[in-house]
Amino acid sequence: MLPLVYHTSYSFPLPANHRFPVGKYAALRSWLDQDLAGHPHRYFSAEPDPNYPRRWHEPAYVEGFLSQSLPTMMARRIGFPMSERLIERTLAANSGTLLTAELALQHGLALHLSGGYHHAHYAQGGGYCIFNDLAMAAQTLVAQGKVRRVLVFDCDVHQGDGTATMLAGHPDCISVSVHAERNYPARKPDSDLDVALPAGIADQAYLAAVEEALTLVLRLYQPDLVLYDAGVDIHADDELGYFNVSSQGLYQRDWLVLSRCLAAEIPVAAVIGGGYQRDLQKVVALHRLLFKAAADIAP
Ligand SMILES: [Zn+2]
Repeated sequence: MLPLVYHTSYSFPLPANHRFPVGKYAALRSWLDQDLAGHPHRYFSAEPDPNYPRRWHEPAYVEGFLSQSLPTMMARRIGFPMSERLIERTLAANSGTLLTAELALQHGLALHLSGGYHHAHYAQGGGYCIFNDLAMAAQTLVAQGKVRRVLVFDCDVHQGDGTATMLAGHPDCISVSVHAERNYPARKPDSDLDVALPAGIADQAYLAAVEEALTLVLRLYQPDLVLYDAGVDIHADDELGYFNVSSQGLYQRDWLVLSRCLAAEIPVAAVIGGGYQRDLQKVVALHRLLFKAAADIAP
C-alpha cells in the first residue's frame, strides 16, 4: 500500500495571473485516481496545527504570519498575498510533510502531494515558502527519538538555502542540495553537501551528478530516513529552471532516488517541490512522474 498525503486546502485562491501555479495540487490529486488505478494506495491528511511551526520557527515571525501582520518587506519576500486560506494551507502542508515522513517510517515509502518549502529560514520566508516543512520534520523525528539521523536530499533546481540554515549545527539532520549554480536564491548558504550544476545540463550528466551525490551521502551519513524533494523545475520547459532535463530524465531521477533508498532499506518520504509553467497540465504531468516511479518500484 502506497501512502499519499493530501489536504483540500493545498490549492487555495490566488489573484489571477499570479505566477505560482497553485492549482497544481488539486489537479495532481485528480490525475492520481487514474494513474494509480489498480495500484494499492491510500490518502491521508494532516490538520492545520499552528503549534507545529511555533516549535521550530522564530516566535515573532510565526505570530506575524498567523495574524497577517508581517512587515511588508517580509510578506513581499514570501511572494503570496496574506490570507486565511494561505494560513490554513501553509499549516496543513507543513504538518503534511511530517505525516508523510511518519508514514514512510511505517511503510517504507510515502509521498506528499505538496511540500518542499526549502527557502523558509528560521525567522523569515522567501520564494513562496513560509515555514520549512523539511527542516521541521527532520528535527521533530530526531527530537522524538523516532530516528537517529535524517537526510534531506533536495533535487529542486533551486538551492535549499532555508534548509541549510535551519539544519546548520544539527549533526543528525543532514542537508544536501543538488541545484543550478546560477539561479535563485542569490545567496546560497552552505548545506552539508551542495552540488551546483551549470545551466543547460541535460539528462546524462544530471543523472550522474544525482547518483554520485546520493551514493556518497547514503554511505557517509547512513540515515534512518530520507526526505526527498522531487522538484520538477529541473525540466527543460520550466520557466524558472534553466536546466535541460527531459521528462524521461526526470522519471529516471525519481526512480533512481526512491529505488536506491529502498534497496538500502532506508525509508523515504518524497515531497513534490517546485515546478513552474503557465500551462498547469504540463507541470502536473511532470509531478505525476514521481508517483509513477513510486508505483513502479513499490510492490
Ligand atoms: Zn524550485
